[in-house]
Amino acid sequence: SAKASGSNQWAFFKAQMTERAAVRLRTEASLHDALKNNEFLLHFQPKLDIKTGEVVSCEALIRWQKDGRLISPISFIPVAEETGIVIPIGRWVIEQSCKTIRDWQIRYNFSLPVAINVAPQQFQDASIVPDIKQASLRYQIAPELLEIEITETSLMSDIDSAIIKLKQLKSAGFGIAVDDFGTGYSSLSYLRRLPITTMKIDRCFVSDLPEESAIASTILMLGKQLNLNIVAEGIENEQQLSWLQERDCQIGQGFYFSQPLSKEEFEAKYIEPNHTLVKTIHT
Ligand code: C2E
Ligand code: MG
Ligand code: MG
Ligand code: MG
Repeated sequence: SAKASGSNQWAFFKAQMTERAAVRLRTEASLHDALKNNEFLLHFQPKLDIKTGEVVSCEALIRWQKDGRLISPISFIPVAEETGIVIPIGRWVIEQSCKTIRDWQIRYNFSLPVAINVAPQQFQDASIVPDIKQASLRYQIAPELLEIEITETSLMSDIDSAIIKLKQLKSAGFGIAVDDFGTGYSSLSYLRRLPITTMKIDRCFVSDLPEESAIASTILMLGKQLNLNIVAEGIENEQQLSWLQERDCQIGQGFYFSQPLSKEEFEAKYIEPNHTLVKTIHT
């Protein structure tokens, strides 16, 4: 009967929900263990000045080393967001990034800015501004060397509180980039009020180049009008690069230049070559 089949569907639905909840609980528990057991690590991807080819910055991207495999943030950050554990994970990212900036200064006498991704829930947390300020103070790094990447979702869900936090961060000197720009739904009128320094054109618009260029052109124009730096993410080939170079995009990131690399690989390739000897004067 219809009633029986309806109740079967309900039972099926309930079983599915229970399964999902169970998976979420298991993942949350292992994320707690991962933090405790130090199973996270950061990879780094360079950002280049696409006119000169110079590496001007890098993005820190989290990975989870679990049973000898590297797990992508795509598969655990969303769960971490749902359960709130993204806040302590995010704190770890802030800490490690500041530590890395300091480490490169000490070992190589070289200052390279690092960009970190801040999840919406983490940005909405009251401790985000003090967390960032305290970590940069603790490692004695200039705020200009740390850039915060946030998505439109983080900004739009509570715009007034977002503006207050952005003002605090920007006036302290930190860089602020809107990540994946064009994929969320930020209102253009708010964009003008936001104290940000950079817009990152989402990879999906870069991958459409050069055939489909309407959105990328528009974002570049908007950035120029609003006096913001523009970073193109996900550059994978020469044609995309040329298109961006011809249109005054300043900074690029993508597999065409480099995949995200382990800290050691990144140092060997991009930090070591810049090493300048600090002469100690013996008297
Ligand atoms: P995102 O911040 O937009 O980072 C860019 C992603 O695109 C990275 O993926 C990067 O490896 C990838 N990518 C860069 N260039 C290319 C390219 O040329 N082609 C293609 N196909 N992909 C490219 P990844 O490392 O898997 O990170 C995915 C997302 O996970 C990030 O997107 C970010 O939203 C999130 N994420 C990464 N690390 C963190 C973190 O520490 N905290 C938080 N909250 N989220 C993070
Ligand atoms: Mg990012
Ligand atoms: Mg992005
Ligand atoms: Mg993205």
